[in-house]
Parts: sequence; C-alpha cells; structure tokens
Amino acid sequence: MSKEPESPDIVGKGSQDTTSVDDRGLQFYKTHLAQLSDAQEQVPLKDHVRLILSEPKNEVIVNFPVRMDNGSYELFTGYRIQHNNILGPYKGGMRYHHDVTLDEVKALAALMTYKCALLEVPFGGAKGGIRINGRKYTPGEQEAITRRFTHDLGNNIGPDYDIPGPDMGTNSQTMVWMMDTYMNMQGAVDKNAKRRIVTGKSITSGGSRGREKATGQGVIYCIQEWANERGVRLDGAEFIVQGYGNVGSNAAQILNRLGAVLTAVQDHTGSIYNADGLYPRKLAQWVEENGGVAGYPGSEAIDDSAFWGVSCDICIPAALELQIDAEVAQSLDCKVVAEGANGPTTVEGAEVMRERGIDVIPDIMANAGGVVVSYFEWIQNKRSETWQLQEVDSRLHMKMKRAYYEMRAFAREHDIDNRSAALAVALRRINEVYVERGVFP
Ligand code: GLU
Repeated sequence: MSKEPESPDIVGKGSQDTTSVDDRGLQFYKTHLAQLSDAQEQVPLKDHVRLILSEPKNEVIVNFPVRMDNGSYELFTGYRIQHNNILGPYKGGMRYHHDVTLDEVKALAALMTYKCALLEVPFGGAKGGIRINGRKYTPGEQEAITRRFTHDLGNNIGPDYDIPGPDMGTNSQTMVWMMDTYMNMQGAVDKNAKRRIVTGKSITSGGSRGREKATGQGVIYCIQEWANERGVRLDGAEFIVQGYGNVGSNAAQILNRLGAVLTAVQDHTGSIYNADGLYPRKLAQWVEENGGVAGYPGSEAIDDSAFWGVSCDICIPAALELQIDAEVAQSLDCKVVAEGANGPTTVEGAEVMRERGIDVIPDIMANAGGVVVSYFEWIQNKRSETWQLQEVDSRLHMKMKRAYYEMRAFAREHDIDNRSAALAVALRRINEVYVERGVFP
C-alpha cells in the first residue's frame, strides 16, 4: 500500500525526525575511518594515496519526484557515492532502507573499494541507495521509484564506468528494472551491449547462476577456512544469525547442509530460539510469507539482548552496521564472528572481542562473495556466455580461499587482527598501482 499523503497532493521528504539516523550514519563513517587508520599503520602508504582515499571521488545526489498509485507525488533522495576507481569501474550495491544516509553510503562505498582490492576483482568501490521503507510501497510504486532513480543517475553510471548491484532492500527484480531503464536510454543498436550495466539480475534477464546465494556462500567458504585452521568440526557446530534476508538465510542454509545447527535468529521482528535447531529452509519460507522470523512455529521467542548471549560456535551478523558494540561483544558466547553484514562491529566491540579471544572474519573478506559473483556475471554478459553453477562456485571458492590465506598470512606476520590485515592487503595493492601510475597531470 502506498503511504497516505500528509498534504492533499505532495508528500515532502524529511517528514520524520531523522537526527538519530544521521548520527548513526556519521558514527559508521567514523568507525570505518578508525579501522582504516589502524590498517594504514601496517603499510607504508604514499601520502598522496592516503589523501586520495580519505574522501570519495564523486558524490552524486539526486532528488526526484515519483507519482504514487493514489495520484499524489513523493520526492525521494537518491545517492550514488563513487569512492575509488583506480583498479577498475566503480562497483557496489544499491540500498533501499529507511536508515540510508550520505555518511552511511560513503562508508559502504569505501568498503567496496577495499573488498574488490582484497579479492583481486578488477573493480573500484561505490555504493548507492534511497532512504525509503520499501515495504511501504506497492510493486508498481517500487518500479516507478527505481526507474526514475536510474533515469536521473543518467551517465553517472555505465557498464564500464559504474555498475550497481543489489544490497539491502533491493533484489534481482530491482536490478532488472534498472537494467531495462538504462538499456532504453541507449540507442537501439547499442541496447544489448549494455546488459552488464547492473549485476545481480535474474538468470532469465542475464544474471549469473549462483549470484543469489553468493554472499552467503562466501561467508561459509570463509567459515570453512577458519574451521580448518582452528581444528573445529562444522558437523554438529552450533550457530546464530542476525538478519534473515538474502545473506543470513543463504548462509544458514548452506552451513546447515554441512551439519551445523542453527539455534537462534534475530531480525527486525524479534529473536527466536530452539536448542534442538531451527530448520533454515523452512524459516526462509516463513520469513518470505510473514515478513520476519517472529512467530516461527517450533521456536520460542527470546529477548533481543539474550540473542547475542546464546552459547554457540559461530555468530553471523548479517543485518545492519554497528550491531556489535562493547556490551554486545561482552555478552557473546561464540568462537568466531563471521561478518556477513558490512560494518557490523564498532571500534569498542572489536576491542572487547580481541581481549576475549573471539576470532573475527571481517566484512570485506566474509561477505565478498556477492561482488565476486557480480564480477563473474559482468564477464559472462560481456562475453555472451552462461556459466554452470559448478563453475561459478568453484571460481568463487578459489578467489575466497586465496584472499583468506593472504589475509591470514599478513595477520600472522604482523601480529595484528584479521580486519587490519584484510584492509592492509587491499591498501598495499591500491598503493602499488598509484605508485606505478602516478597522479595526472
Ligand atoms: N551489496 C554487495 C556488497 O556489499 C555486493 C554489491 C555488488 O554485487 O555490486 O558487497
């Protein structure tokens, strides 16, 4: 259902109090800068490289009106932040969420730069989004919002310039609307060559096999590497997941197939628990039909604060940023935190986990599977190929494994945590390219 208009015809943006949301965005951006500065101590970065990376290259903001189903108009603010493109075209998701802010998108764009560099994906980093509660809009309205946003971004995106992908609140349908709008803005002859303007499309419209589950699959490849190194058996291990969207639900289903038991899940509707194990696939179906995990049959509701303290081996935050602060980190009862989300840990939270000996597989490593398979989709489109799932998975596995070992080797050699190591490996790569290429003019 469309939102009721607050005045007869026009609903302006900013009608709700967003101060706390803006603060949170800023806190996230500062958290990212603090993590980056820790990592920069580990690599002899050239001064100009440090300067260049300290701000995004471009910040695109568009305000655009869309006609709602009831005939009223609403004005939306859309962002596209292009952080860096020294390694290749800008790349990153489009987030539709009521907490989206400029600072949040800036932090997320920077994380994409380091994620692609760590994984040796020849892309730079970008992120975009709209501050909306997608659930409030009808499918027709969502389509109109997406098409108008894409149109207004115009040449600020492009198949060899900046390639959007899915993120929180967007999916393959959103990507196909974006692709179709962009293609129709091109000359008829060029149209089909532009299919790779976005990734994360449905398979029928040019998407890649394995893209839907890719981020979750990548999280599990990392957990397997961690388990091998630590001598932990995944068969029978217990795990908890925060967020049961694309990343959380796919990670849960894949880990469960390896014999691990999902005992607790939290999302925006509440927290659920079952000591004998929740059934990940059925839970995914329940969430699709009911909009959240609350009320899932065969589970008991627990307090949101109790969720983090559930005793387990593996904790997978796969929701929003800044979830694991010092207090939450203190209550964790797990061996490893695998960050399916971007930026789920605060600086203080990370400190507590370090003191308590909880391992962390950081976001730019753990959730990189999504952008890696986006890259595979982009290559397939460019070459007019379709790869089998097995090929996608094995290529993804190789890339994740190599980056994981590089991160671990750096962490061991410098006696630092995985987050600083992952960022340092990425920074080293970017630094080398800037040194070779210099700065124009
Ligand atoms: N949104 C995903 C991420 O945060 C991937 C975006 C993409 O595939 O471009 O890594």
